[in-house]
Amino acid sequence: MRSVILLPLLALSTPSCSVFDHLEYEQGLSARLSKFVPVEITADDSHLAASERAALGHLVEAARLMHPIFVRQAWVMNPQMEQDFTGAAKEMFAIHRGPWDRLDEECWLPDCDVPRTDTAGYYPPDMTKEEFEGWTTDGTSKTDAESLFTMVVRDEDSGLRAVPYSKFFQRYLEPAAEHLRAAADATTNESLARFCRSRADAFLSDDYYQSDMDWMDLDSVVEITIGPYETYEDRMFGYKAAYEAFVTIADPEASAALARYKNELPAMEAALPIPDHMKNPNRGTESPIRVVDVVFTAGDTRSGVQTIAFNLPNDERVRESKGSKKVLLRNVIQAKYDAILEPIAKKLVVESQLPFIDALAFSNQTLFHELSHGLGPGKIVKDGRETEVRLELKELYSPLEEAKADIMGVWTQLFVMDKGMLDAERRKFLYPTWLAGLFRSIRFGVEEAHGKANMIQFNYMLKSGAVVREASGKYRVDFETFETETSNLVRDICVLQANGDYAGTVDFYHRYAEMGDELRADLDRLTEIPVDIRPIYGPDRPDQED
Ligand code: ZN
Repeated sequence: MRSVILLPLLALSTPSCSVFDHLEYEQGLSARLSKFVPVEITADDSHLAASERAALGHLVEAARLMHPIFVRQAWVMNPQMEQDFTGAAKEMFAIHRGPWDRLDEECWLPDCDVPRTDTAGYYPPDMTKEEFEGWTTDGTSKTDAESLFTMVVRDEDSGLRAVPYSKFFQRYLEPAAEHLRAAADATTNESLARFCRSRADAFLSDDYYQSDMDWMDLDSVVEITIGPYETYEDRMFGYKAAYEAFVTIADPEASAALARYKNELPAMEAALPIPDHMKNPNRGTESPIRVVDVVFTAGDTRSGVQTIAFNLPNDERVRESKGSKKVLLRNVIQAKYDAILEPIAKKLVVESQLPFIDALAFSNQTLFHELSHGLGPGKIVKDGRETEVRLELKELYSPLEEAKADIMGVWTQLFVMDKGMLDAERRKFLYPTWLAGLFRSIRFGVEEAHGKANMIQFNYMLKSGAVVREASGKYRVDFETFETETSNLVRDICVLQANGDYAGTVDFYHRYAEMGDELRADLDRLTEIPVDIRPIYGPDRPDQED
């Protein structure tokens, strides 16, 4: 690793100059690496016809090209660093896709204290919010600058300029489009061919609308989700979409078995434990659910903590006319259960409740979490104004929404059990598996939306007595009170959302979002259990690159 050469390039502010202890650094790096355990993830493709297998090969090649794009989107120096790093640094880079550890935000290069910039690679690293806003308000290019699909660069005359993704990443997007068209030619599935062709067009035009619509209509065993989607990486404005890809093999039977739950969404909304005027009966219910095994992923989703389920597309126009699709990544869920959830449970959950923690309950919790994002207050009226929960709660919105989806995920499972749609025997598994899941996600850090969401639930249930810490330092759920407290927490969160109550949410976070010393000490017992997996997929094998 040649960080000595790279550091001056990286340094926008001057890093502190302490004496660099190489051994200590190596140990620190291996401690960081051990937080992500490599796990081989496989998908059964033996039942695929030759045509679909051929299509799959082209899709993987298209997906591979999302990697260099995202690496550049994440940080301007990344492409150079990726070339130069070797050994442990190369591995660190492969996990975090940049010089900052995505768990604690620290720079992991030797003797480096350069903070992660909010600009990511989307904007010049020295650009300030004020400069951007000044430029966009008096220039004519506001739309381009704020577009999901442009990179902002600094010209020679030091002015800012927006460059469309299709131009900036042309050398990757053109061959990716070619691979998508080859997949379209190979497959006998019309819906897959249609999506591949329209998405190939979008790569060259930056107009993703039609292909997002076609993605909603995908009905194929071999599937792909590919393109610029999430905007989390742009921490300055949240405008820019990061490229990523999931190549998957669907399980139509498992998908059909879960699809019946989505029909219950209106009944669930009507039954929510909140006053009727806070309910939202008009929320869309066209929500296909797919159960898939992942063959390969690349780009944004391959960095840091790995996705186990997603809900796309994000384009509100598509969501309004077709809803959104929930995709459960079955083999990744199983891998995380085996490598992380079960070992955590053994350390932190009382022995008598361990038999009631299993992968099925973890998978169900993931599904009902995703379904629950489609329930509860969304569009609201505040002080006579029509507005949205998101707009009123601003930066407080995401953790509260994630906490809602989690605890409502428990509540909705109870709902379908009461209706006889899910084996009532599974009730026993629901709470202990939820509890073990909390410990897993709190480790992502309480600054992160999911980490904070889990902290809130933990504290709420601990204070109400539905979760109990025993003298042994292990935890159990109290089956007697848990159901009532689940309803109460769903109610408390939904009322904050329905009122668009920013001040109330601040207060709620004060009460519930801080990590207590006791829990902190208990979590320290988990140090040898990885925080997440580092997936190794079949297509990674040939050259060990993705
Ligand atoms: Zn969520």
